[in-house]
Amino acid sequence: MFLDIEELELHPLDFEEEFQPDVIDLGSEARQKAPLKASGHAEVVEEHHGKHEVIKDIRLRGRLSASLELQCARCLEPVPQQVKRDFELLYRPLGTDAGRDELSVTDAEAEIGYYQGEGLLLEDVLREQVLLALPLKVTCKEDCKGLCPQCGKNLNQEQCSCSAAVEDPRWAALKDVRSRLEH
Ligand SMILES: [Zn+2]
Ligand SMILES: [Zn+2]
Repeated sequence: MFLDIEELELHPLDFEEEFQPDVIDLGSEARQKAPLKASGHAEVVEEHHGKHEVIKDIRLRGRLSASLELQCARCLEPVPQQVKRDFELLYRPLGTDAGRDELSVTDAEAEIGYYQGEGLLLEDVLREQVLLALPLKVTCKEDCKGLCPQCGKNLNQEQCSCSAAVEDPRWAALKDVRSRLEH
């Protein structure tokens, strides 16, 4: 859904949208399990830059919710993750960064972004907001045992025999020492 600056100038826009999985590219970190829901309000805000220049920003307020699946950082099994986020964003035309302090409207709460050309794609905004809402790392459970570094088996599901094999020589060496001490 494209938020066109010229159309928004004519009338603000209320939106309520659903995006099927794969419409919004969340990269390899997250998989979307159900339609992502987003609703909100978009409008143009004018900022005065100096005495003569008027800058047209797009202000976007809304919320989103999504059912995602992330990957456990230890065992790589899928971990369900609900994401809910309210956002309040102000997009300035790309290139207005210089003299940012001189701009008249300063929305203390709004995050500032930039749009290029005619406007901005709602999907891009949502993608960024979802990624910002994700935790850096998830584990399927607090005491996830992870994968065996040798054979790759999921140690939550089965015990492999690698650890025993690793310990064997050490035990053998210890026994050897003990037997020498005893004799
Ligand atoms: Zn895990
Ligand atoms: Zn193993």
